[in-house]
Amino acid sequence: MNFKNVIAALSGGAIEMLEGFDREAALDAGMSQTTANNWKLVHEAYYGPTTSPSKQRQAREKARAEGVSLDKLVHIEKKLKQIKNNRTRNKLRLTMLSVRGTYTALLALVRKILPSADKAPEKKMTISASRYGRRRVMFWADERDVADLEHALLQRVDPDLPLAEQLLEHFLALIRSGGGVPHAVPRPQLLIPLPEWVRIIRGEGDDVVLGLTDGTTITGAEFLTAHTANPDNELEAVVFHPTEGAVNQYRLGRFANAKQRDMSRATQPICTSPDCRRGADQCEIHHIEAWKNGGETNVNNLAPLCRYHNRVNDDDAHLARRGHVEMRGGAPVWVSPRGFARANKLHPFGGMRSLFNHDPAKVVVHAN
Ligand SMILES: [Zn+2]
Repeated sequence: MNFKNVIAALSGGAIEMLEGFDREAALDAGMSQTTANNWKLVHEAYYGPTTSPSKQRQAREKARAEGVSLDKLVHIEKKLKQIKNNRTRNKLRLTMLSVRGTYTALLALVRKILPSADKAPEKKMTISASRYGRRRVMFWADERDVADLEHALLQRVDPDLPLAEQLLEHFLALIRSGGGVPHAVPRPQLLIPLPEWVRIIRGEGDDVVLGLTDGTTITGAEFLTAHTANPDNELEAVVFHPTEGAVNQYRLGRFANAKQRDMSRATQPICTSPDCRRGADQCEIHHIEAWKNGGETNVNNLAPLCRYHNRVNDDDAHLARRGHVEMRGGAPVWVSPRGFARANKLHPFGGMRSLFNHDPAKVVVHAN
């Protein structure tokens, strides 16, 4: 494979190349979900089930004849997603495929022919994953509410200082005041490796990073400060066996009891599904072997999954639709419908990983 071949495959040969597209194979090969989903969108438009096969064939031929690049094909389908009517969509696709020249030329045409998405943004709030100990919050709300908020935040602003930082400061003061948002009590339920625990006690824990089961992290020094400030905060530890994982308890009830939930969260401090950032504290505790099939409520059969990923998990693994969770070497891991394991690495402080550098996705599984 040389660079010329790559270019050929991504430009003129793109429509041909996508004919045999397989999303699972792409993901298994290490492609990002975004890219795989984009390609899938194109594949479905040109090769997927359709009510107008002749239009689809026409589009395929046009894409081939014009040598439309992969980037253009993706852009076209992403734009067409907003068009609900099939006929309109087929027609617009053919028009867009006719654009000769660069990607920029296509963008210009799309801007001209597609109705601008001129409607009120949905009211919602989104919270990002942590980056360098910070998170981004973004929301759309009624302008009246936001105007009131802005008015409140602008009180006592110092005109000589940068505005944005003061707005944030005032906002945080506002939500923490009165009966507002309480500070969470740090409660890392991880077994800290002994030498590092000794360093924390000695007050040398600045560079020891502990994972909390709400999906955030703190340093050993910060934890100690919080712990000393309130001696009622007892340190919680979970015992991990190097290959068996957290210690077992047996079938006690339909819902995992508190201790088993804690151990499960300590093993996997965020949702088990790859790339999901939901903290284990906000997750449901999933029975890997379903309760209805006799699965025990013990920690080797439990895994935190957020509400969404719990719902799409293949509880009967042989159905192989959306993938399922397995316990491998004492830690839960998501396994694709084709049997490839992928660990969620957004929060690398699970007990088995931080103590024994254990990666459940790397455990070799022997068929029985
Ligand atoms: Zn999830």
